[in-house]
Amino acid sequence: KPLALTQFCRDLVEEMQLTAGSQHAIAFVNQNCDTHIFCMDEKLLRHILGNLLSNAIKYSPAGGTILLELIYQQEAVIFHVRDEGIGIPEADQAKLFDLFHRASNVGTISGTGLGLAIVKKAVDFHGGKITIASKIGIGTTFTVKFPLNDRIKTND
Ligand code: ATP
Ligand code: MG
Repeated sequence: KPLALTQFCRDLVEEMQLTAGSQHAIAFVNQNCDTHIFCMDEKLLRHILGNLLSNAIKYSPAGGTILLELIYQQEAVIFHVRDEGIGIPEADQAKLFDLFHRASNVGTISGTGLGLAIVKKAVDFHGGKITIASKIGIGTTFTVKFPLNDRIKTND
């Protein structure tokens, strides 16, 4: 069943805004076309983006804005999850997808270090790539890129 990606993202952001409450504003931006995507598991995509968004909420101080961005390219679909949170030290970035790894700056924010390891598996499953850009005290962007090919296609 084809997945309407724009509506899917809007719904997810609305749902995450409810769990985040008034402390954080979660926004969604995309190009204005409701592309359907084929052959991608909706539950898995929800798991991937939901995890990244809940991390963005958890590791951001009150007042921080979180952005889910959806970009269509000729040969890829790209999601950015941007936050204005605590950031991730460079030394930790390469290990974040390892089981139980937590960055040195988490302080009293609780977690088990499992979320991203599972996210990585889910991204790999669809032949995607996940990358991090982050600056301490400024914020973090996680980027997930899925190539469009015979396994994943869009309708335009
Ligand atoms: P959980 O298993 O409950 O998700 P967790 O959030 O600690 O626990 P991961 O989601 O795997 O585990 O994230 C691993 C580590 O990456 C975190 O402990 C944190 O140090 C860092 N991290 C992840 N997302 C962010 C973010 N948006 N901003 C800052 N640090 C982050
Ligand atoms: Mg987490």
